[in-house]
Amino acid sequence: MKKYQLMAPGPTPVPSEVLLAMARPMIHHRTPAYDALFREIRAGLKRLVQTIQDVLTPACTGTGAMEAAVTNTLSAGDSVIVVNAGAFAQRWLAIAKAFGLKVVELEAPHGDTVAPERIAQALKANPSVRAVLVQHSESSTGVLHDVRAYAQVTRATDAILVVDAVSSLGIAELPMDAWGVDVVVSASQKGLMLPPGLGLLALSDKAWAAAKRSTLPKFYLDLTEERKYAEKNEARFTPAVSIMVGLREVLRMIDAEGLPNVFRRHTRLSRATRAGAEALGLELFPKTTPSPALTAVLAPRGVDADRVVEAFAASHDITIDGGRGPTKGKIFRIGHMGYATETDVVIALSALEQVLAELGVPVDFGAGIRGAQKVFAERS
Ligand SMILES: *Cc1c(COP(=O)(O)O)cnc(C)c1O
Repeated sequence: MKKYQLMAPGPTPVPSEVLLAMARPMIHHRTPAYDALFREIRAGLKRLVQTIQDVLTPACTGTGAMEAAVTNTLSAGDSVIVVNAGAFAQRWLAIAKAFGLKVVELEAPHGDTVAPERIAQALKANPSVRAVLVQHSESSTGVLHDVRAYAQVTRATDAILVVDAVSSLGIAELPMDAWGVDVVVSASQKGLMLPPGLGLLALSDKAWAAAKRSTLPKFYLDLTEERKYAEKNEARFTPAVSIMVGLREVLRMIDAEGLPNVFRRHTRLSRATRAGAEALGLELFPKTTPSPALTAVLAPRGVDADRVVEAFAASHDITIDGGRGPTKGKIFRIGHMGYATETDVVIALSALEQVLAELGVPVDFGAGIRGAQKVFAERS
């Protein structure tokens, strides 16, 4: 018998309450039932994103929401800064290129971050820059960028700060209005424990002002139009109804746990996973603040990290993920975001011990689990 476990850095497992809610018969989106659902979701999303702005919910993946952030706030020929320290940053570069933007690239090695001072300098040197595009949690490297400090820099300028929070919303603290973030971009399939297919976008007043000037082409993801409907509590097009039904359950679950507790749980799971990996003599990939969404680990010397990923699947029916681009074969990544608990981390570390042994690495069985349990024992 096999028992499948999804422990990738997205998509993530969907709780059974949410699956059951989504299994109910389809409802029409122009009915009192959907009105009530949408109203509850709009209020819940404002609390989650910690903003007074409407959080828009287009039917698209995270990349669609990233593209919408660009096409709705910028015009052809505009200059942007991209903080590039991983594969998802390269997606910002690709989108910027597709829409004819000029890019000032601030690069850091994968596993590292870009200091806020470099953004301040680049903005000074390039005063025409209209937006700074960053990841909050760079899922390809397991690093959390210091968005709070970035926002302190952009706040004092005319440039907007656009944050890819796909693997940080509902995982790491990101109070949009308090920090002065201008665009929060996210998606359903990471911290929100839903199937893929729903994008999330919130824009600050400064970003909406930029939207007024923006001339890049847009139709399906025209956020100004989308907002007009949302303000009337209406859907512009057919929404991703099933995912919206699931989202209501998720928002209730997050409210019941309490948002600060949700963040604390993720911090704890990530600390425990790191402690477990280190107790097994493994080296962590991030050279700076690790993301609470996932743990990126360097494979032991002489072991191809992709073999670790394969053995997790073959021997334990657990999906984790490997590296991308320069880290391919070097790192493996374990997700612990969304519907994830302490026992999930213990299972992942237990499987890791067995996988390493299977690949011929000497293992002190139980050491990884003990490393995690010590973190869990520090009840604070
Ligand atoms: C998962 C992820 C995305 C989303 O990509 P889609 O596959 O289009 O949903 C974007 N950015 C980050 C940081 C991610 O982790």
